[in-house]
Amino acid sequence: MNAVPTTRLAPSPTGGLHLGNARTFVANWALARQHGGKVLMRIEDVAPTSTTTTWQDDVLGILQWLGLDWDGPALIQSAELPPHQTALDQLAAQGLVFPCSKTRKDLLVVTAPQEGDFEARYAPELRPELPWPTDLDHAPPGLNWRVKTSPGEIHFTDEFAGPQCFDPHREVGDFILWTKRGQPSYQLACVVDDHRTGVNMVFRGDDLLSSTARQIMLSKLLGWQSPRWWHVPLVLDEQGERLAKRNKSIRLTELRDAGVQPAAILRLLAKWCGHVAPQDITNINDFLDGFSIDRMPRTPVRCVQKDLEALQQP
Ligand code: GLU
Repeated sequence: MNAVPTTRLAPSPTGGLHLGNARTFVANWALARQHGGKVLMRIEDVAPTSTTTTWQDDVLGILQWLGLDWDGPALIQSAELPPHQTALDQLAAQGLVFPCSKTRKDLLVVTAPQEGDFEARYAPELRPELPWPTDLDHAPPGLNWRVKTSPGEIHFTDEFAGPQCFDPHREVGDFILWTKRGQPSYQLACVVDDHRTGVNMVFRGDDLLSSTARQIMLSKLLGWQSPRWWHVPLVLDEQGERLAKRNKSIRLTELRDAGVQPAAILRLLAKWCGHVAPQDITNINDFLDGFSIDRMPRTPVRCVQKDLEALQQP
């Protein structure tokens, strides 16, 4: 393990950040700084949405406006693909990577239909015939590339959420490593960038717990040690749904433009973090002083109308 505790803030360019994102980032930052740790900034723009420099400036600007800082320049994931390519090659050389032209609809034919937004499982019977390419230099472009998963549970202990057990083979099957857009998937990009930048503390929403099992699996195959994990429950709205970036009333840029002060936002985030004295916060240092991971609520917190009204107070 890297001697210096190192974490990262990893926003995705899928719209402006909201109060729930801000709560995770601020708690992540505070935990790392309390450990005397480094905080890196990484823009995760290999997700299937487009991004612009304007957006990056915006997300960095809004986090600085809240008072967060980070060490070194922001890493723009899409601008540094060779390390991801090298990791993909390493997995292919082990005979674990195969091309896939199947659509989500094709996968659903062999998967039991389920409700809502879920990941279609790629079953082993869909795999192409062997041999699979072990050298991807001459691999055809325009295809997705998947990694072969093996049956078996992955156990890990989350520092916040406790003992966890997932079986990626059973839950999602062979998952995508490289997309037909010529970019790494979130899973591969995250593992590679955490490893190469020395990240040893990952702090994020507990909606990513099942991804963690996939990331541990990839790290093992690549011969790398996984970071320590903290997964915290998400902030929900009054109906119990996840906060949506499309809801303007909770977006940080909209709040700032409406005259809300950073201290007011920090007080709300502090309340949602179980901070000792949220009402006394005037800046990020006050937040840091009274933050304790042991006081973070173990169940999802609710963002209610009264919270948003309180933001309007100076
Ligand atoms: N980019 C992801 C998000 O904004 C975070 C992924 C991670 O922390 O690994 O939700």
